[in-house]
Amino acid sequence: MTEEALDVMVVGSCMTDLVSQAPRLPKAGETIHGHKFFIGFGGKGANQCIQAARLGAKTAMVCKVGKDFFGDNYIQNFKDNGVNTDFVGQTSDAATGAASIIVNSAGENAIVIVAGANMLLGSEELQNALPAIKQAKVLVCQLEISPQTSLLALQMAQENKVKTIFNPAPAIPDLDAAFYRASDVFCCNESEAELLTGSSVVNVEDAHRAGRELLKRGCRSVVITLGPQGCVVLEAEESASKHVPTTAVTAVDTTGAGDSFTGALAFYMAHYPTMPLEEMARRANRVAGVSVQAVGTQASYPLRKDLPAELL
Ligand code: ADP
Repeated sequence: MTEEALDVMVVGSCMTDLVSQAPRLPKAGETIHGHKFFIGFGGKGANQCIQAARLGAKTAMVCKVGKDFFGDNYIQNFKDNGVNTDFVGQTSDAATGAASIIVNSAGENAIVIVAGANMLLGSEELQNALPAIKQAKVLVCQLEISPQTSLLALQMAQENKVKTIFNPAPAIPDLDAAFYRASDVFCCNESEAELLTGSSVVNVEDAHRAGRELLKRGCRSVVITLGPQGCVVLEAEESASKHVPTTAVTAVDTTGAGDSFTGALAFYMAHYPTMPLEEMARRANRVAGVSVQAVGTQASYPLRKDLPAELL
């Protein structure tokens, strides 16, 4: 059991990315030669946890990996990043979640995700983690594990007055209304906001409108990220929807930018509980902006030592 209270607990997914670069995507039944292969650490839950940890949050991950090479490797990755692994379970019943990714020379990709062990994380593991959840400052969930497990985790946190961030990704249509009620911060990107509201979200005005619609569903606040345009922030007790712009940078690789943003937001909520959400979002924009300027998902996430003091 964890001795000290945690800043951020993430209940979510771990995925090993197996990336092959090839001139084109193979057809059915075809074998082609690629020119580069690499293995990366991904999964939205783990990404967010790693970003919060790199900023200096005391974090723990609640997740399930396989009793296999990728699972062992992932646990080591958490340890290397200072993430507490007391609640990382290993199972022989499924393999560690994996994403097989093929990228062609035009940058297009074909991806097969096998969620594997991620789907075996359930209420029993949450009960084991409950003493730590009760003491944590912020709990973060997404939708890459069983939705029932995510909802239960958010509700457990809420019942214990732990702040919640819910990132409804990948978005599912007809999301259970209970998710909104269990979210202190409902944080999504444009395409997720579009799927959840059923109306197009392509600019700041659309995001204000979608944010108002999501807020009506019962969350305490909404953040919609807008790539180089930053994000919009709406809070239940304030009538205004605020655009929080950022300095647009030339992106090298935007994979996992939203997770960097969410992980950073969790860090700020835990460290500065009285900071206005708008200011936290402004800082999270800057952190995510750093992440898009380097290749890789977690590999591109900035460490505390790489950031200016005004962001810490
Ligand atoms: P997702 O990765 O979920 O699609 P976004 O594309 O909205 O999410 O990016 C998340 C955050 O990353 C943005 O809110 C912004 O803070 C930052 N970001 C993304 N692209 C850029 C960019 N080109 N310049 C500056 N910041 C960026």
